[in-house]
Amino acid sequence: MSKTECDIGVLGLGVMGRSFALNMADRGFRVGVYNRTEEKTVRFLEEQAGGRPIEAGSTLQAFAEILKRPRAVLIFVPAGAPVDETIDELIPLLDPGDLVVDCGNSHFKDTDRRNRMLAGKGLLFLGLGVSGGESGARTGPSLMPGGSGEAYRRIRSILEASAARVGGEPCVAYLGPGSAGHYVKMVHNGIEYGLMELIAESYDLLRRGLDLSVEQLASTYAKWNEGVLNSYLIEITARVLERKDEKTGRPLVELIADRARQKGTGRWTSMDALDLKTPVPTLDTAVTMRNLSDRREERETAARVLGPEAGAASCGGDREAFLPRLEQGLLAAMILAYAQGMSLLKQASRSYGYGLDMSAVTGVWRGGCIIRSALLEEIRGAFREEPDLANPLLSPALGRAVMKRRADLVKVVSTAAELGVPVPGFMSALAWFDALRSARLPANLIMAQRDYFGAHRYERVDEEGTFHTQWEA
Ligand code: NAP
Repeated sequence: MSKTECDIGVLGLGVMGRSFALNMADRGFRVGVYNRTEEKTVRFLEEQAGGRPIEAGSTLQAFAEILKRPRAVLIFVPAGAPVDETIDELIPLLDPGDLVVDCGNSHFKDTDRRNRMLAGKGLLFLGLGVSGGESGARTGPSLMPGGSGEAYRRIRSILEASAARVGGEPCVAYLGPGSAGHYVKMVHNGIEYGLMELIAESYDLLRRGLDLSVEQLASTYAKWNEGVLNSYLIEITARVLERKDEKTGRPLVELIADRARQKGTGRWTSMDALDLKTPVPTLDTAVTMRNLSDRREERETAARVLGPEAGAASCGGDREAFLPRLEQGLLAAMILAYAQGMSLLKQASRSYGYGLDMSAVTGVWRGGCIIRSALLEEIRGAFREEPDLANPLLSPALGRAVMKRRADLVKVVSTAAELGVPVPGFMSALAWFDALRSARLPANLIMAQRDYFGAHRYERVDEEGTFHTQWEA
């Protein structure tokens, strides 16, 4: 391949960068690559790139030189300072009109800042959310681009060719200006936290509460994946439960320490939801439970002091009858977790001017990404019918879908509470649903208390204006 003709550049050959570089090369695009540690580039070329239209720059300058003008550079480095450092090094090597694409899980406020900074230098910028992990990046991820429309048009054909496809449609769409893409990716991850927590709670309830064997669990989730719960996360749960440890022959999952790590996108989702005053309690709970799981010593002390763990119990005596109720209850809770994330996206779209098209967002999430599921098709349908829905639960079809399963959700929560197995994700989903459909909440009492101790005043249901009562005689 002659120099100066790579269609696109990939900077950062970690897990995601090298996989996406191979993906684009397999679609016929000429890819220029660069990695800070050259050894990794050499290994990539020798062991993985073989025969593909991939060329490397040994220095950043050499990398900039092998790219077709105007250049398009996809950055795959860890979020935070590495992205700023990389952009700062890149800027002097670029020409006005070149395009920089941050493909990491950057905080949306950083993306807005970088957008402004690069625009000031005559450079185009996109914040591109990428979901699907290593295999998604390699074979077809879900892509969430945001930034200038011109920037998107520049690399649209490459992104469409490399994204996952569902029903012939690529799982990529221009989502909006500024940080729209990274915001959507952040909330995608927040929903991912919520769904993973709900699945983990269902596993705990079956394993610890109902004393099902790991083998029984594996076949239960595999069966569920054939039905209404069909989704990537349920599918991999079954696969995880099937896996035996090579050393001991025991189910590997039982040997994995129960400390959940996190990189921050779930926490960011909750923090911004609080800032935007939009309730996402199941997503919040998922972050909280990861934090609690990390306090292992505290939990072990409490377990010693406060009694034995919940053992096998009867669950009303009929495990077989309980399983379909858990399946339906889990479906209801999952719908509620998606709905919380989507209502946050709607609010963010209004507050930050993203102009999000929710059927486009759900369309992008249908394939390639971690939260892909059969359910998303129904949610997409709801937004197609009513694009302005503030919350997908306000769509009669989805609202009814949860209402129909509310009794199952209650059964899951009450069974877990009786057995002493914590299911705060399910509980918060049920409570959020019940609060949402309460035309009257007890905030009247809270307002009275505020007025009592702080003279904060209150509004009345029967009269305009604000009022204060002299509560103490
Ligand atoms: P990774 O495997 O840790 O690779 C990071 C790459 O960035 C390495 O090649 C490293 O180069 C380079 N790098 C680190 N600091 C740098 C700096 N200051 N300047 C220049 N290069 C630097 O990361 P990854 O998993 O591919 O993730 C990349 C981004 O995608 C992250 O934002 C991540 O959150 C996001 N993401 C990851 C996944 C996933 O499943 N892994 C999924 C979705 C999104 P050296 O070889 O020189 O260290």
